[in-house]
Amino acid sequence: MVKYVEEDLLALLKEISLLEENQALLGWDALTGMPTDSSDFRAELLSYLGGKSFELMTGPKMTDMLNYFRQNPTILSKLGNQLVAHESKKVKLNTNIPNEDFMEYQRLTSKAQDAWAKARQNNDYAIYAPYLKKIIEYKKKFIKLWDPQNQAKTSYDVLLDQFEPGLTVAKLDVIFNEVKTGLQKIQNKLSYGQKPDDRIMHREVPIAQQRELALTLAQKLGYKLSKGRLDDTIHPFMTAMNRNDARITTRWATNDYQMAVLGVLHEAGHGLFEQNIAAKFDYTPFAKDMAMSIHESQSLFNEIIIGRSKSYWQNEFTTLNTVTNDTFADVSFNEWYRAWMTTKPTLIRTEADPLTYPLHIIIRYEIEKAIFNDDFNVKDLPALWNAKYQEYLGILPENDLVGILQDIHWAGGDFGYFPSYALGHLYAAQFYHTMQKTIDFDQVYASGDYQAIFDWRKEHVWQYGASKTPQEILKQATGEELNPQYWLELQDAIYTDVYQVVIN
Ligand SMILES: [Zn+2]
Repeated sequence: MVKYVEEDLLALLKEISLLEENQALLGWDALTGMPTDSSDFRAELLSYLGGKSFELMTGPKMTDMLNYFRQNPTILSKLGNQLVAHESKKVKLNTNIPNEDFMEYQRLTSKAQDAWAKARQNNDYAIYAPYLKKIIEYKKKFIKLWDPQNQAKTSYDVLLDQFEPGLTVAKLDVIFNEVKTGLQKIQNKLSYGQKPDDRIMHREVPIAQQRELALTLAQKLGYKLSKGRLDDTIHPFMTAMNRNDARITTRWATNDYQMAVLGVLHEAGHGLFEQNIAAKFDYTPFAKDMAMSIHESQSLFNEIIIGRSKSYWQNEFTTLNTVTNDTFADVSFNEWYRAWMTTKPTLIRTEADPLTYPLHIIIRYEIEKAIFNDDFNVKDLPALWNAKYQEYLGILPENDLVGILQDIHWAGGDFGYFPSYALGHLYAAQFYHTMQKTIDFDQVYASGDYQAIFDWRKEHVWQYGASKTPQEILKQATGEELNPQYWLELQDAIYTDVYQVVIN
């Protein structure tokens, strides 16, 4: 007797998707236009909807259905079986932990985030440390429950795998060591070059002009306003309800138009991904569960591959001057581009330029590894943090605000997440390397018609949504595993030019 058919699974997944669309829209509204007094009501509503979708995702109907389909795979299409595998993994992750522990942990992370904010206000790590310690204890307990047979080589591997399936410390150590060594060589080389003068980057550009510039550039790369919009916020993000509604946000400063332009290009890259997922994945988790690394590779493709390319700007410098009423007309293109590309070590990760950014991630990765694989003491984390900034970036945080207290991630229990940011950089460069075999970028940029770039990204990345892992997409698109040399070669070429290093 047939107990379930594929349509039953699709109907249940659609119900979950509809609830999640609601949550996404309400979440977007909370961060863009909601009246401040409404926040308690909104939190109540979001937690209600979150509870409903969680129930459907892990409840008896779903588990029964997944069991049945796993025993009867032949009655499902290929897509149906892929969905069963995907959902089974999710259910396992969420149900291996006893309910009381899960609820207690949720409360703890919410309190920890308040403690983190308070610690920031008082510049006092000690306020936050006890909460961080408890979160780590919970995570260590969860790791044992998630990996009961102790299959992972190290504890931290279990966390890495949740954000980037298949990623391990053994693999990442090799990759990050290559990046560290390569970056040292580049930094060394640049010390013999000419530092650009970046004062022109802080010329005043009215926000209306910045908006027009950023939106013009984003739309030329294919971001569609008929399927999206741009709003103001404090911490920029992209949120997608579905492939026809992928909204981006940004923040503005009249004396820092670069922040807005690169910020909008970045978020529009996330939006492009969402707007171009194949319609066959509508109302399934494959339209929304993309791994963060592959998503980030697309926002970063806009930001660091296109938005930092000399030949791209050679063409768009005219747009910049037209929109800003010739604010930069007295500056030569070369002078402007060198200013645009200035690199210097910063203490704050989110303010880092593309060259130094991965070092911020490597520092966090090494600290997380110390916490989970070597039981490093929470009390001593600020000292470890500072020592690593001194060693890798040559700058010492003068306090914990610009040190260990800068990111909210650990207060939310997000360990194993940071490496995805760096992987996004490396993936973007590897895609670019492959694309150059069939696309003449200089010629495409000079023509002002970027369709060829759009088409490649849609065909090889966006259309798949979350139906493939990042490694599968990378391998299929570029023919090889992750190779950080492409990123290093690209940065070396760009900055050797910008810093006018003479090679004898
Ligand atoms: Zn991003």
